[in-house]
Amino acid sequence: MSGYLYKKVPQGRVVKSRNFPYYKKNTKISGNLALIGIGGNIGDTLRRFNRLFYFLQRDSQIEIVATSTILENPPFGFLEQPDFYNALILLQTPLSAVELLAHMQHIELHFGRKRSFKNAPRTLDLDIIAFNKQQINKGTKLIVPHPHYKERDSVTVPLESLKGVKWLKRVL
Ligand code: ADP
Ligand code: MG
Repeated sequence: MSGYLYKKVPQGRVVKSRNFPYYKKNTKISGNLALIGIGGNIGDTLRRFNRLFYFLQRDSQIEIVATSTILENPPFGFLEQPDFYNALILLQTPLSAVELLAHMQHIELHFGRKRSFKNAPRTLDLDIIAFNKQQINKGTKLIVPHPHYKERDSVTVPLESLKGVKWLKRVL
């Protein structure tokens, strides 16, 4: 499955794909709101994003509220690798931020992530960008909001497509 070009931006291409973007109307928020950054650049990343979407929808600890459009952009750091795809998922969960991080790390492994070296190709990276507008600092293990997200095209470009989602102002 491949996405279709939505618009060209200086940072790359914005594409739409199955379930990205997505918005669930009339969501009642009773849990913690988290904004998750998703990224990947191995194999069919857009297909993996769609599989992740259905995986999270079947997860009793997660309710997806909205997803963003997807930024397709060239790699940074180690350059001999395929393009990156990045998007955002706004979700609610009864889990705490620390519990959610552990949960996300299990899901990364489920989707075949192997940690090799910094900025290496990866099947799926899941980062907590923001959580309930909270400042969290657990050393290097968990820092929320995610450091430097405001300067990252991988976050700011997909975020544009979530601007109309009213719950966004309760998360970051
Ligand atoms: P990166 O996301 O920077 O490419 P990794 O996914 O390998 O790299 O994450 C490295 C470490 O970052 C993780 O082991 C995790 O404990 C830590 N970390 C700190 N803050 C966060 C956050 N907000 N979301 C996700 N991981 C975080
Ligand atoms: Mg990460």
